[in-house]
Amino acid sequence: MSLARIFALLASLLCTGLSHAEAQQDGWHYDKQAIMGTEVHLQFWYENGATAETITNAVMEEFRRIDAALSPYKENSELSRVNRQAGQGPVDISQELASILDKSLWYSKKTQGAFDITYATLGSLYDFRKGEKADRETTQELLPSVNYRHISLDRESRKLAFLDKRTKIDLGGIAKGYAVDRAVAILQQYGVQNASVSAGGDARLLGDKRGKPWLIGIRHPRDRSKNAAVIPLENTAISTSGDYERFFIDSDDHRVHHIFNPATGKPAETDSSGNASDSNKLISVSVIGPQGFDTDPLSTSVFVLGKQKGMALIEGLPQFEAIVIDANHRMFFTSGLQQ
Ligand code: ADP
Ligand code: MG
Repeated sequence: MSLARIFALLASLLCTGLSHAEAQQDGWHYDKQAIMGTEVHLQFWYENGATAETITNAVMEEFRRIDAALSPYKENSELSRVNRQAGQGPVDISQELASILDKSLWYSKKTQGAFDITYATLGSLYDFRKGEKADRETTQELLPSVNYRHISLDRESRKLAFLDKRTKIDLGGIAKGYAVDRAVAILQQYGVQNASVSAGGDARLLGDKRGKPWLIGIRHPRDRSKNAAVIPLENTAISTSGDYERFFIDSDDHRVHHIFNPATGKPAETDSSGNASDSNKLISVSVIGPQGFDTDPLSTSVFVLGKQKGMALIEGLPQFEAIVIDANHRMFFTSGLQQ
């Protein structure tokens, strides 16, 4: 299919629209709650209204549980405890955290360090609401402590240590994708066959929308009121990373946003080799694949890697596709979406 055909199709689907009334019809259930620093949306089909409420509560409770374990802002989270203690020596961690760390480290190796949860060593000094960032000296000083190789994880005995005392971690690039998968697992336990769950930029779709595809909008990266594309999807996950969700513009007119290049310890504005070229620089990345546990870290990775290396990464992963928008606002698709 030509690109023009795809756009025509997307445009016609866009006109069909998502009506709210539809969600209220018999069997459709809808809920939205503020959790994990974002809006969690849940929509699913279930005939029995009373059980549907139980299902909704179970799903939202799971998001809250994951947030309580992995939030860097909650002092009692397992993540905060690890950040306080793992620099002093090995600490015991849960099976769940061990598996998320294992996945994170796998993507660090796969992306030559573009995905690196130790970005938080510097990233935790940024406050996007207050417009605060790490100064140049602090960045230089702490940069050697940003490195996934400082993470020592023993999956068998579930012990974690940071080999550098100053290293900190944050799971913001993978936790929401993991959480939408957990939500879908719960929905499936109840026998739900058609659902859409999203947490900010991470969505997972179970089945279709009863006879038609789910329509997922990719937001226009510079105009909040617009979609750059609307994509028909079913039974898949999609994660979007952009420089427009959490950012501020600093005194040098730079967009200071929340996706870091671990090589520089600063928000990613260049490709991984350090060259800033607008056609390689991405401002929005969406990755489609079987589960959020992979599409979430992959969308963050492709953003950091830039168009050339990022698209090559996805082309090398048979189950995944990507839709990216470069700094000139041009959209590109991996080969599986161009047929
Ligand atoms: P969102 O959090 O808006 O869904 P992303 O999926 O792109 O967006 O994840 C961005 C988050 O990932 C950041 O807020 C931060 O918590 C974390 N992060 C930023 N840079 C990196 C990186 N290079 N490697 C791993 N995680 C990162
Ligand atoms: Mg991500």
